[in-house]
Amino acid sequence: MATGSLTIDLDALVRNWTALDRASGQGVETAAVVKADGYGLGAARVARTLARAGARRFFVAAAEEAAAIREVLGRGPEICVFSGHMAGDTDMIGDLDLVPMLNSVEQLTRHMEALPGHPFGIQLDTGMNRLGMEPAEWAALRDIALAAGPRLLMSHLACADEDTTGFNARQLACFREMTEGCGVPRSLAATGGILLGPDYHFEITRPGIGLYGGRPFEDAAPVVRLSLPVIQTREVEPGEAVGYGCTWVAEDRRVVATVAAGYADGILRCLTNRGTLWFDGQPCPILGRVSMDLITADITGLSRPPDALDLLGPDQGADDVADAAGTIGYEILTSLGHRYARHYTGGSAP
Ligand SMILES: *Cc1c(COP(=O)(O)O)cnc(C)c1O
Repeated sequence: MATGSLTIDLDALVRNWTALDRASGQGVETAAVVKADGYGLGAARVARTLARAGARRFFVAAAEEAAAIREVLGRGPEICVFSGHMAGDTDMIGDLDLVPMLNSVEQLTRHMEALPGHPFGIQLDTGMNRLGMEPAEWAALRDIALAAGPRLLMSHLACADEDTTGFNARQLACFREMTEGCGVPRSLAATGGILLGPDYHFEITRPGIGLYGGRPFEDAAPVVRLSLPVIQTREVEPGEAVGYGCTWVAEDRRVVATVAAGYADGILRCLTNRGTLWFDGQPCPILGRVSMDLITADITGLSRPPDALDLLGPDQGADDVADAAGTIGYEILTSLGHRYARHYTGGSAP
């Protein structure tokens, strides 16, 4: 076994979707965001599993991402595209039966000219200034757009998981003002918004990170385990250094394990001398630089010699790794490399 092993627990994924569906409340539809290859875990497997669990609507960032998902889902479940109807996307939107979230006058015009009668949604900007029609633009277009029968009106919260200034309430009020009386299903909440409570849920919620076990869904079941095989172990004596640049020097005698993964596998180089690998509940601090394909860790005092050390698993989630790296769990998951042997457990058809 020369590469790391990435195990994805599809039963845990279903438990997380079911819990967020319950938190979304009675009568609210819970979709699933599977962009960026299902946050690095495999969009096709994730989508198929969640469709069996009851999800009927999926969101991707770009139309290209929908092909593999449509193939496993077949016709029926809705696949929505956050980036809307971009130039060059028309054939894909038509062939794969996608629902673009139109973000501008330009996109609305393109869509109506290229695919008249084809379903669409509208993305509205309520303060994040990233995607969507601004209030004035929407006011001018609203009647034309509504006459064409959008499937969904949506917007996105900028501070759902870290609101210190009341920004959520301002976005909520803006979204209400822009959409009240339209008679079209609405969606404002991602994972963070679901946890803010029913005011934010409207007709459809669309969690991403919480499905995959990440914050701010603190009660999430862990979905990912990443085990890195030990290639070699050695003792280092006081004064000896480990790794590129000799950034770590032993003060006393240590046992060091070298595992087969590195920054080329998405294990961020800034975890150098900061991150931790785990063995059976025991921490093994990363010593020295994270290399392209190798990491060295302190296994002094382990109860038995390890055949592999875990970066992700029951002892440490993506958010813990993110804290050590100064980033967020989203980035840890979506950086997971392509050299790992991927295994899926659970998720069998009901
Ligand atoms: C990524 C994304 C989501 C999902 O957000 P999470 O925080 O992962 O739950 C929902 N809506 C939009 C517009 C997004 O870009």
